[in-house]
Amino acid sequence: MSGGLAHGVVHVLKDQFDEPEPETIRPEQADHEMERLRKALAVTRGEIEALQRQMVVDGGEAEADIFDAHLLILDDVTLLKQVEKRVRVEWLSVDYAYYQLMLKNINALRRMSDPYLRERFLDIKDVTHRVMRHLRGEMLEAPMFDHPVIVVAKDLTPSDTVQLDRSRVLAFAVETGSAVSHAAIIARSMNVPAVVRLAGISDELHSGDLVLIDGDEGVLILNPSETTLNESRVREAAAEKREDVLHERRHEAAQTLDGETVLVGVNGEFLEELDGLKDSGAEEVGLFRTEFLHLADPTASEDWLAAAYHQVIVAMAPRLVIFRTLDLGGDKVEEGYSLNPEPNPFLGWRGIRLSLGRTDLFKRQLRALLRAGAWSRVGIMFPMVTTVEEVVAAKALLQECAAELDAEKIAAPAELLVGAMIEVPGAALIAGALAKHVDFLSLGTNDLVQYTLAVDRLNDRVADLYQTTHPAVLRLIELTVQAGYGGVIRVGMCGEMAADIGLTPLLLGMGLRELSVSSNQVARVKAAVRRLGAAECRELWESVRDLTDPAAIRGMSLGVAESRYPDLFE
Ligand code: PEP
Ligand code: MG
Repeated sequence: MSGGLAHGVVHVLKDQFDEPEPETIRPEQADHEMERLRKALAVTRGEIEALQRQMVVDGGEAEADIFDAHLLILDDVTLLKQVEKRVRVEWLSVDYAYYQLMLKNINALRRMSDPYLRERFLDIKDVTHRVMRHLRGEMLEAPMFDHPVIVVAKDLTPSDTVQLDRSRVLAFAVETGSAVSHAAIIARSMNVPAVVRLAGISDELHSGDLVLIDGDEGVLILNPSETTLNESRVREAAAEKREDVLHERRHEAAQTLDGETVLVGVNGEFLEELDGLKDSGAEEVGLFRTEFLHLADPTASEDWLAAAYHQVIVAMAPRLVIFRTLDLGGDKVEEGYSLNPEPNPFLGWRGIRLSLGRTDLFKRQLRALLRAGAWSRVGIMFPMVTTVEEVVAAKALLQECAAELDAEKIAAPAELLVGAMIEVPGAALIAGALAKHVDFLSLGTNDLVQYTLAVDRLNDRVADLYQTTHPAVLRLIELTVQAGYGGVIRVGMCGEMAADIGLTPLLLGMGLRELSVSSNQVARVKAAVRRLGAAECRELWESVRDLTDPAAIRGMSLGVAESRYPDLFE
């Protein structure tokens, strides 16, 4: 989830299908609109017939008959007449008129008691989506809205969000996911509210519906009453006031009551959030995810990438920027990935594994990072590391790129730090060995928790088992921190756990002194640190380190947090 309130119209993204917005046309456009529909129906017919022929060739005669039903829907003259009426009499765009009528049929079928008929709605839905895509002239088109919207979807992958016009997104509401799924992380970096785990929402709502999203309470209200809206506005105003107070001290260092300094960094992913990162009060960028710049244009040149990375460095200078090299795979996949999916993407070719296998991509990125960082301070960290050899190989490629650039007389960064993310239990267990090869370790708890506990971070069915305070997770964090200090290198945390102020006492108690969080959490985390004593945090850790119940451990940390800064939870 991501906090805050938003009130506005819904825009539904469905199975990569974008519901049409209510739109009117000029009367003289009516002929053209109807012609568009006839063409889209003809192309869809050709497509379905081709599928049918293929099915027969593949030996599925019976299945091929299913497509007869699809073809009948396309040839339904009555329906066509109804659409025409709405276009010529009500001046509605054909996209909207056609979609609305089909939706009516779909909903009527879904209410049938006969299970066979009820299931036919899927046929109509399939045909409708095909026709709509052809109406727009493309199979997959970037979502379209020209006004601020609340985006509703089953789930949002990074490639979905890359295609959105993010400047017009007021909030997100999605069916799946958790606080560490990408939809939630992206919402936090865009500083908009998000609610996750709203089962069935993308079918129940339609583009144009008016809703209120309350990211703090995790609720979505359809057609909120004036009283509800007023109440929420009052609450929002009070929350903004509290934020303003927090913000006053955001640029000051975060020191505990007994004088220990905690470095608070910020996580970023988009160029348009640079002002927010800069103004957040963070002392550095502890994690800049580079997948989003890559997904925006996977064929982007080294020059383009270098210029983009340079923008981040310039915005944050003289502060350090730690770029995380591409973490593609898992839940961060490119368009077209579905053509060649892996059975277990989270255990597959992702992160540093993919980079080492695709040295063309990796070297382009490393060269761009080195060029962008000329004369500046840059950190480069590798995601999903599991072996020392991966780090050694990645560093060798980095060295190779640096030597090439040197030969080309291109200036090098003034300071270059190389790090490994600790996101896999195996990596945490060999953190001591990894520490010998890097300048810093960064705990990616979003993945570390899922891999340690075998709980998919995107699967809402097992979300209750996703426990950051499970003793196994804590043990791995402790091992990593000790390895970092033992190796006299920096060690920090950049997963969402770092922003959980209920756990700040526990994290400080375990020895962490570097936390990197989304921009709207920096001031809050700093304020939490300032109200805690490092010594009492160490005592807390000592008192919970042998407990086995994740809820009890969380409760003990929360107890300290709530007694020291109850106001920060409001
Ligand atoms: C993590 O896994 O904690 C992390 C920071 O990386 P991401 O959320 O991008 O997987
Ligand atoms: Mg990760």
